Amino acid sequence: MTYVFLDKFRRHILSCAVIVFCMKKKFLSAIIIFTLLLSALAVVACAKQEDVTTYEIWLDFNDEGVACTQNTHFVNNSTTALSNLKFNVYANAFDSKKPLPCASQEQAEAYPNGVSFGKFALEQLHGDFQSYEFDFDKNLITVDFAQPLQAGESVDVQFVYSLTLPNTLLRYGFNERGVSLTGFYPQLCALVDGEWYYDEFSAIGDPYFADVANYEVHFNLPDGCEYISSGNSKTSENDGELTVDATAENIRDFAIIISPELSKKSEKYKGVELNYLGSNPYTLEYAKKAIDVYSSLFGKYAYDTLSIADMPFVAGGMEYGSLCVVNEDIKDVAYEEVVAHEIAHQWWYSAVGSNNLINAWQDEGLTNYSTYLYFVDHCNIEYADLMISDAYSQYSRFCDIQNSVGEPATGKLGGKLTDFPGNYYYTNLTYNKSLMVWKHAQDVLGKDTLIKALKNYADKYKFKIASEDDLWNSLDEIRPDASRMLKDYIKAV
Ligand SMILES: [Zn+2]
Repeated sequence: MTYVFLDKFRRHILSCAVIVFCMKKKFLSAIIIFTLLLSALAVVACAKQEDVTTYEIWLDFNDEGVACTQNTHFVNNSTTALSNLKFNVYANAFDSKKPLPCASQEQAEAYPNGVSFGKFALEQLHGDFQSYEFDFDKNLITVDFAQPLQAGESVDVQFVYSLTLPNTLLRYGFNERGVSLTGFYPQLCALVDGEWYYDEFSAIGDPYFADVANYEVHFNLPDGCEYISSGNSKTSENDGELTVDATAENIRDFAIIISPELSKKSEKYKGVELNYLGSNPYTLEYAKKAIDVYSSLFGKYAYDTLSIADMPFVAGGMEYGSLCVVNEDIKDVAYEEVVAHEIAHQWWYSAVGSNNLINAWQDEGLTNYSTYLYFVDHCNIEYADLMISDAYSQYSRFCDIQNSVGEPATGKLGGKLTDFPGNYYYTNLTYNKSLMVWKHAQDVLGKDTLIKALKNYADKYKFKIASEDDLWNSLDEIRPDASRMLKDYIKAV
């Protein structure tokens, strides 16, 4: 994610009119879809070459919202037997009975048409398990097995649910420009050392944490709309309706952006299909530059598609599996920075996973440092230097404020999202201080050594989850004692 400091650019005044995003589609009953799901499963089971965790999701946009069926084929790749599965239901955080899913300072911007709620309604759950429980307060569905699922074994769980989308400029919902369908489905928590890692939804930071998985997603494209989605997709026409079939491999989450207004541009670049929903003539050029820079530094881009949409958004931008959203109000070089930042997340977040719930600095810091290198590589040294000087000056001001209230922040970097006192605190540590850490690493280790160490990290943890220690060890393998030097720096500033 990119946070935006409001003095960085001028926001457009958004129309107060409530824009209804009308999706004309007759409602298919969940029963019919479920029957289709079961018959499709039989085909999928025969066609599968490799047994990997796969989400297959059918979405039906209708006047009320979205009717969904989902099969999650889970493969226990851990070395321990599992007594249950745990699914995080991020969409449930938007329910009217919950606290708003944004920081209080963001509320006015997040809901320009007034506060609006979503609804995740679980209708059916089927599969080879003993029982299940939907903990509404925790947004957590736990599926308990009669017998433990042994290492190497797999299981299928089918969900039928419906979504009512909130009218908001947050990550999930609809607004005047279209629909952001992200974090919309029950998603397995990350499996860390044989245990499901769960923490409550946080209004601060990016509260998503998952293992990579494969996806097959099918949805009807509402009349007159364009879309982008994670992965490869194709459209076909059935009875006058456009259907989209999308597939993606090894991504951490699946996202769809649909718009009745934005136009779509696609082109192929060095084997990667680029898709862009928006009107900025330079976005795809920035994307190509970003792919070139990061591929040369940290290893080849991990996917064969990259899709970007400009949308109204409360923050600067947001990363998803092979897809980025950029705030359409950001202009000029700041816009290029957000595009470069969100694309860098495809290396640090999507390909190399880390625990955003406790170590958000791990991917955000590397992403910010990569963005700095993007500008260095493209001869905009002035802007690269500005990124660094901004980080130092903003962090210094933040420390002064913390000291003045007797709550010094010196020595800290990570921490649970839910423990951060606010966005200001979170962004200064996660974005500014972590960029300072990597700039310091470049100064003391030398740029070539640092890049070699980060490439080592990227190679070792591609499609895995790297702990903080994994990152430090990757550095030490290239330059012994590098991690101690950086930890000393983190303690000192
Ligand atoms: Zn970010």
